[in-house]
Amino acid sequence: MNRKIRATLLSAALVSASLLTATAHAQLAPSAQPAPQAGTAAEARKANIVIIGTGGTIAGAGASATNTAAYQSAVVPVDKIIASVPEVSKVANVKGEQIFQIGSESFNNERLLKLGKRVSELLKQPDVDGIVITHGTDTIEETAYFLNLTLKSDKPVVVVGSMRPGTALGADGALNLYDAVLVASNPASRGKGTLVVLNDEIQTGRDVTKSNTFKTETFRSPFGPLGYVVEGRTLYYRIPARPHTTQTEFDIDRIDSLPEVAVVYAYGNVNPASIDAAVKNGAKAIVYAATGNGSVGDYMVEPLKAARAKGVQIVRASRTGSGVVIRNGEQPDDKYDWIVTDDQLPQKARILMALALTRTNDSKALQQIFWKY
Ligand code: ASP
Repeated sequence: MNRKIRATLLSAALVSASLLTATAHAQLAPSAQPAPQAGTAAEARKANIVIIGTGGTIAGAGASATNTAAYQSAVVPVDKIIASVPEVSKVANVKGEQIFQIGSESFNNERLLKLGKRVSELLKQPDVDGIVITHGTDTIEETAYFLNLTLKSDKPVVVVGSMRPGTALGADGALNLYDAVLVASNPASRGKGTLVVLNDEIQTGRDVTKSNTFKTETFRSPFGPLGYVVEGRTLYYRIPARPHTTQTEFDIDRIDSLPEVAVVYAYGNVNPASIDAAVKNGAKAIVYAATGNGSVGDYMVEPLKAARAKGVQIVRASRTGSGVVIRNGEQPDDKYDWIVTDDQLPQKARILMALALTRTNDSKALQQIFWKY
């Protein structure tokens, strides 16, 4: 490609990128537009964003700056986190609200419901334009998927975390929070479902998963991010294809409890007693995180069939981390009356199954739900 054509293509790309963010006055890079001044009309147009604090590493602190992976999570209050990133208040009117101060591994159904209901309440307020939730990274993908399926609003909801505490060298929380507020303030984020922002990327709550224990580049989706946040710009390249938020049959305001759904992890020499334990514990469904394409060991078939005979729904998933589990492939699902997850990871299939069971206990309808969402 000659230099002139390349330069023309580059400027065309820059023009279309800035068109994407044109309505978001506060998000243009300083070189493209001056930062809003206090008391001006520009400031009056700033979005109102509520930042809900739940804990996690983004609220963590270590003993020294070199503690990038060993520290205490969930200790810094959300207002203090906001105050430590003054750039945030330049792009939006932000208000902090502490709902929990926990590591995200401590999320359970009750806490998930409490968070979802509070977010829903805030989204109904006309003076709230978007929500940012600070959250631990361990289960951010479960919370984001849950909200993505149950909130009934087009307003942006962005879940954000960090891999390093604010006290660490190379801390990532401040920029992640700034980026999350930019994304939540941007009208282009409306109607895209619950988003997860970390490491300069905007991911969809449906697909995102944590893939590494300590690296800042840990969040990924098999299909790539929806976009980037760079130099104060929110750049979208894709939109979610599966129904979410206002398009689903699940409404957080109408759900007061979630049924018990167990995940049983498969491995060589897996113990069939884990299936019985889940049934005895009152599981209404078991997501079997099977090997490969949902393969079930010969000695595990009978225990799973026995659980199904007791009325427990069986969902074949894969522990591989991505890919579609093929119905009637590795196992005769029609014959056993089992369900397959489509491409959903076991921990996310658990969320979808719990929600689906609030609507139906018919295995065929449940299978449709898995194929739909
Ligand atoms: N265990 C922490 C949590 O999920 C890890 C993190 O936030 O990165 O709360």
